[in-house]
Amino acid sequence: MPVTRPELSPFDRGLLQGVVRGEARLSPEQSLELLREMPLAELGFWADERCRSVHGDAIRTYVIDRNINYTNVCTAKCTFCAFRRDEGDSDAYVLPVERILQKVQELVDIGGTQILMQGGMHPGLPLSWYEELLGAIRARFPQVHVHAFSPPEFIEFVRFFDPPGATLRDKLLHVMTRLRDAGLHSVPGGGGEIFAPAVRRKIGLGKCTGEEWLTVMHVAHQLGMNTSATMMFGHIEGLADRVHHMEQVRAWQDRAIADFGRDGGGRCMAFISWPFQRENTPLGRAKAWGEGAGDDLSQPFPGDVVATLDGMGTKDSHPEFGRRVRMSGSTDYLRTQALSRLHLDNVWSIGSSWVTMGPLVGQAGLRHGANDMGSVMMEENVVSSAGTTHCLNEAEICRLIRDAGFVPAQRDNRYDLLKVHDGADSPDLRVTDWSQHRPRRLHVEAPRETKPIALTVGANDH
Ligand code: SF4
Repeated sequence: MPVTRPELSPFDRGLLQGVVRGEARLSPEQSLELLREMPLAELGFWADERCRSVHGDAIRTYVIDRNINYTNVCTAKCTFCAFRRDEGDSDAYVLPVERILQKVQELVDIGGTQILMQGGMHPGLPLSWYEELLGAIRARFPQVHVHAFSPPEFIEFVRFFDPPGATLRDKLLHVMTRLRDAGLHSVPGGGGEIFAPAVRRKIGLGKCTGEEWLTVMHVAHQLGMNTSATMMFGHIEGLADRVHHMEQVRAWQDRAIADFGRDGGGRCMAFISWPFQRENTPLGRAKAWGEGAGDDLSQPFPGDVVATLDGMGTKDSHPEFGRRVRMSGSTDYLRTQALSRLHLDNVWSIGSSWVTMGPLVGQAGLRHGANDMGSVMMEENVVSSAGTTHCLNEAEICRLIRDAGFVPAQRDNRYDLLKVHDGADSPDLRVTDWSQHRPRRLHVEAPRETKPIALTVGANDH
């Protein structure tokens, strides 16, 4: 276990060299100071050094998977979301199981290995629907890894299905065991946003708490499933909220390793962070700090006044908290990603978020602590609903990785390498005319193919 040296300045070279080697651990206070004060070039340098220490100098990875958003009906009303619909809305949908299987087939046809399947949190779907869906995928595509249902969905499953158990943890164990046994392999880290309650209460209306989110992942680890963690920043939060969020991920990863590490338990494999996308969202209509009547830019941003490293900040600390946003650009994104590499010493992979930031910033992320470019994505509906439209194919991702100075390699969900593209037949090296490769819109579900389906809800579905 790396040691913490809180008495040292975070700019101390010896401390940072220790972090690079995995011998020293940053305290939350040190990380906050780095996030606030260290120039981007230096922060990027140390994050790159740490990444090279963990992953070597040669290879950086990507995965071929497909996002499948099986429903857009959702009981929550997150203010940053442009995707959700109420049951009964004309464009509300639940994908029929056959349509989902067809999507998986299309993924397999292009060499994909994994689906990332998430809702909406639909109150009308019984537990048996999920079990049958997972069973159907496993029967037809036993080779495909199913990475599905984020922690907020599991918390709602407990509410919807009322499974047996005296505690939340017991109930989660019941539901997650059934879904694991039906064919669920791992749990994605969606819905992390920002864990600090003051922020979460403002932006994640009807969504689980940070503590509940972390509990779901701890149960997943107990059941031997790997997970990932996410953070969405660049809205109403303060910088200390970002560090508190990372600290929670690190602390619960320590717990998972201590509690289940010897018994084949799972762990958090990856951390991916991205800035809030404002288009079409209620939160996106909030004024930027400095644009509101009476805003004084010489004063701190309201989120920074409220945020504390223990996550206990209260909204009453600033009258404009939650009403002003501080959007994140490329520099802030790279700074935050670089810090995540340095702070999260026990998380294997740091993902670069090109879907939200665009290909070139995503590529720059590979020199700011990220080892992975994420997914060649056939489909994405949630961030595309909020206006993000970047889309890359395999050759383009490989070229971005190679141009950043690395050999691209396709990986699976466990981060094992499937194909190392070091030969002339690599997807990017086969391209003779790059003018044919232009950014495209991400696929968005056409309402025609996603009509609501009739659901029969059994009486004994838990
Ligand atoms: S972000 Fe997810 S949980 Fe929140 S409203 Fe949208 S679909 Fe629902």
